[in-house]
Amino acid sequence: MAAVLEHRPSVCPHDCPSTCALEVEVLDGRRIGKVRGAKDHSYTAGVICSKVARYAERIHHPERLTVPLRRKGDKGRRESFVPIDWEDALDIVAEALLRIERTAGSEAIWPYYYAGTMGLVMRDGINRLRHVKRYSGQYSTICVPLAWNGFIAGTGRLAGSDPREMARSDLVVIWGTNAASTQVNVMTHALEARRERKARIVVIDTYLNATAKQADLFVCLRPGTDGALACAVMHVLFREGFADREYLARHTDCPAGLEEHLASRTLKWAQRITGVPAKTIEELARMIGATPRTYLRLGYGFSRQRNGAVNMHAAASIAAVTGAWRHEGGGAFHSNGAIYHWDKTMIEGLDVIDPSIRVFDQSRIGAVLEGDAQDIADGPRVEALLIQGTNPMMVAPEYERVRRGFARDDLFICVHEQFMTETAAAADIVLPATMFLEHDDLYQAGGQQHILLGPKVIDPPEGCRSNHEVVCALARRGSVGLLLSVADGHGVVVLAAGLSVVIPALAHDLDSPLCGAAGVARVLPSDRPSSDPCGIEGFAGGSVGLAARIRIQRATDLAADARSDHRSQSGGCGIAAALAELIADHRSGDPAQEGAGGLVLGHIAAGKGNDPGDRQRSDKPARRKDAMKHHDSP
Ligand code: SF4
Repeated sequence: MAAVLEHRPSVCPHDCPSTCALEVEVLDGRRIGKVRGAKDHSYTAGVICSKVARYAERIHHPERLTVPLRRKGDKGRRESFVPIDWEDALDIVAEALLRIERTAGSEAIWPYYYAGTMGLVMRDGINRLRHVKRYSGQYSTICVPLAWNGFIAGTGRLAGSDPREMARSDLVVIWGTNAASTQVNVMTHALEARRERKARIVVIDTYLNATAKQADLFVCLRPGTDGALACAVMHVLFREGFADREYLARHTDCPAGLEEHLASRTLKWAQRITGVPAKTIEELARMIGATPRTYLRLGYGFSRQRNGAVNMHAAASIAAVTGAWRHEGGGAFHSNGAIYHWDKTMIEGLDVIDPSIRVFDQSRIGAVLEGDAQDIADGPRVEALLIQGTNPMMVAPEYERVRRGFARDDLFICVHEQFMTETAAAADIVLPATMFLEHDDLYQAGGQQHILLGPKVIDPPEGCRSNHEVVCALARRGSVGLLLSVADGHGVVVLAAGLSVVIPALAHDLDSPLCGAAGVARVLPSDRPSSDPCGIEGFAGGSVGLAARIRIQRATDLAADARSDHRSQSGGCGIAAALAELIADHRSGDPAQEGAGGLVLGHIAAGKGNDPGDRQRSDKPARRKDAMKHHDSP
């Protein structure tokens, strides 16, 4: 066993709300040892799941793809492939795309991706190529839209109480997520509340899972009936005087209509639908009603139901009825996707989107590939797929249709992957991909509120290339300039390009007297003034370190130049130097914030938006559309 030479910070890239800050053992230039949670990161708090703790087994797995492959035999058979040179592989892909573009039109090409990495540059960069080339678009529907849109329907934005506040709650309701198995950090903070404050934990789910076994009260309901349970809970809250009518009048739009609607949603009515005994529903409602600091942690179970959006809306509404949002440690939370005010123009090529280009529902890939007229919007059949970060042959709905679609002889498929997945086995060209420790990227957390930098930790195996490198290489062969193509091969510059997008926002808020909805969180929960516990009127600030502030501002000074350089393709990147310094400092053990675990560029506070009463109604339709189109965070 090689000795541990050093520990490096990183970020978990998986599609998991926790977005853990990591500490990675580096054994030599090319190998890692154990992966641990960063102890000094305030949300990760030293805890990660066992899957990522053993990441060395994955990154150094003997079956990992390390050489490009070309299919010579039947589709779907792993033996059908022969090795091929990288340049030849890219030429074949580019020629196929150009030919199809010429003969069938650009919309016959579908770049298909999902959340194999949550790094913003590596995950979303494929959209740059899509938009420049006017390839077909996709709505990222496969996971979150039902839950997201239900929450947004209730609160106006995808943001809730800081998840660290669970530790300051007196009642944590974990609803629709098996956190003990899939979001360990939720349990860290909930169990701290139990330990320090004697808080109770309620779990609402459809089976007795690992989280439910730790609950003080487990409410087991029939799948998809959460809305009925929530309505009956609110029925009791109104009936027994627990409703906060002053809060409802001030911050909700139709409290009288809600109360009238709930009058018939009795315990008996809900018992029949949910299968939960009436007395259990009543007990739950009384616990919530009698506990001002009730924190509703609403999970992705709501996305696994046909009626998930209305169920989520109903569950989130409980916090409005009781006014739990008023209290530190109270309120509701699903995701913080809306608190990051990115301008992703450079990463995704948003300034070259042609709105006339069709957009597919990615969950309907089987129907699209089979040429369903409604799904392909009466446009050309899809003749080419370029796939990164997902395995649709195994995860997309309607397996048989998907399988038939991929089996088409006239469909050209390029898959950029880490292993020979079922989808890769159906490809014409397979390109080996890097893993997160082998490239730089930026991450935003969904289940907490940090922006994190994941610097490259080790070199990739010879033969693996990053998503970004492949996108840029294909762009060059397709004779298109991409905003970030100058960054090809230089991870720091890639990062610089990404950061040049975000840093102005960070710096703006660092200079702001208040920590508003877009704010960098200079505010820890304990900083909230007692007269304004939700931060409706804003916060006083002060917890971002001076060193970080100086560095960020220095980088910001260079950001404008870097952006214009990228646009002119001149290749000059002043910001890269500032970021290289920042990364170098970090690698030498002088991180900008929060110690050695993960380079945390900024915490973001939900700020004013913590309170649904502060929502901006005019934003609703656009936000709903965003929730469909971009999967920014789990
Ligand atoms: S808990 Fe989630 S974010 Fe944390 S290491 Fe595991 S998969 Fe990654």
